[in-house]
Amino acid sequence: MNGITDAAVFESFPGVAIDHDNIEHYRGILQRRLLVNRCADCGTWHEPARSRCPACWSTRVEPTKISGRGVIALFTVLHHGPPATGIDYQEGHPVAAVELAEQPGLRFTATIVDCKRETLRIGLPVELTWIERVGVPVPAFRPAEPRNA
Ligand SMILES: [Zn+2]
Repeated sequence: MNGITDAAVFESFPGVAIDHDNIEHYRGILQRRLLVNRCADCGTWHEPARSRCPACWSTRVEPTKISGRGVIALFTVLHHGPPATGIDYQEGHPVAAVELAEQPGLRFTATIVDCKRETLRIGLPVELTWIERVGVPVPAFRPAEPRNA
């Protein structure tokens, strides 16, 4: 349980439908660890969380920490939306589906930070970072630092 109770997870994400399949993902967020479910039998990752592996139907699905590396597969910039602390629709709020390095087609949706509008593009290498809204960590991505080969 990593010291964070189920009740604390529910309290931290009001309005989120937390269930048996995704509670470890949200518990991980509170610890700034981005966990995505992976099959213990065949190794296939899937997101959002489900109770069965979509590849082999195994129920041995384990929340597993990702590397945090990926590329922007698609994005949009929101100029309207429900009022939310820390989101500036006037400026434009970027939301991207990031294709994670772990597996082709494995995507996680998050905002992009520390990125000039003219830099934002499909295929941009990004890395996981954490921001905070209303005292709760939020996974986000920023342009990746160039890797030393
Ligand atoms: Zn599987």
